[in-house]
Amino acid sequence: MKILVTGGAGFIGSNLCDFLLDNGEEVFVIDDLSTGSLENISHLFDNPRFHYSIDTILNAKKMEELISWCDCVIHLAAAVGVKYVLENPLSSIETNILGTEIALKLSNRYNKKILIASTSEVYGKHTHAPLKEDDNLIYGPPSTMRWSYAASKLVDEFTALSYHRTKKLNTIIFRCFNTIGPRQTGMYGMVVPRFIQQALRDDPITIYGDGKQTRTFTYVGDVVKAIYLLAKGDKGAGEVVNIGGQEEISIADLAQKIKELVGSKSEIVFIPYEKAYGKDFEDMMRRVPSLEKLKSLIGFVPETSLDEILAKTIEYFRALAT
Ligand code: UDP
Repeated sequence: MKILVTGGAGFIGSNLCDFLLDNGEEVFVIDDLSTGSLENISHLFDNPRFHYSIDTILNAKKMEELISWCDCVIHLAAAVGVKYVLENPLSSIETNILGTEIALKLSNRYNKKILIASTSEVYGKHTHAPLKEDDNLIYGPPSTMRWSYAASKLVDEFTALSYHRTKKLNTIIFRCFNTIGPRQTGMYGMVVPRFIQQALRDDPITIYGDGKQTRTFTYVGDVVKAIYLLAKGDKGAGEVVNIGGQEEISIADLAQKIKELVGSKSEIVFIPYEKAYGKDFEDMMRRVPSLEKLKSLIGFVPETSLDEILAKTIEYFRALAT
């Protein structure tokens, strides 16, 4: 299959490219390197089945060329990370909404299957678990900019579902739950690479809030496998599906675990949200996915243990530091 990966130089995208190439597919990437990097894909440059364009997904002409060549589109390009979105609210909304609209419109024009990446952020401030794809969504007011990320991805979901309903476009939306692993950068706020780098340097490990908030981290290797199975399979058209891990952990326990696994002398410190993210910030206190639907669609759910994922990620950052 010829597969277009938008955002292919990013953390999930570049891991997906590796996986697709290992499975014999031909891969085309478009990435503007806003949060991705050439380093993530430079090891693929000699592979004759790998092609890349450094360009924005808002360039409809380029997107049309690429989509017309490919059999399937995996649309990952988006503004990522709470910190990044808070610092770049306008361009984030533009990339997320206009970019997805272009990808969907052109996939429909050329009748290509398209998978759209969404996020567990879309669920908003639920505290129950597990979160199911047809649960209600709970957001705060628009003055709290964090919710613009969820709202923009939700517009993407509505747009994709509408293309399916009105034009029969074969589209699947997957909601990722805190994907982690090698190549993720801490630059855009993500907690695991930040804690690991702080621990490796014996710097203070910075917990925001009281650390009681929980997340369910998911190994990037499992995420890309799930995406590939959705792309190859014939189930899930017009559906939203969670892709997530199975071990819920509080951020305070995560800090302690990373400190121990690294063997670090770091002090663990608590930082008020206002200091970390500015005024009017609201965190999500809990996030655990239901994986029933994923299992029914592809017969696979992420199973890599948190200890194993952290060990791999620590090894990656140790190697980078030497
Ligand atoms: N977090 C933290 N310290 C950091 C970075 C993040 O305590 O240095 C917290 C953050 O407030 C949130 C959790 O870790 O409660 C996960 O944050 P991340 O940005 O990785 O993902 P998201 O909030 O999108 O789940």
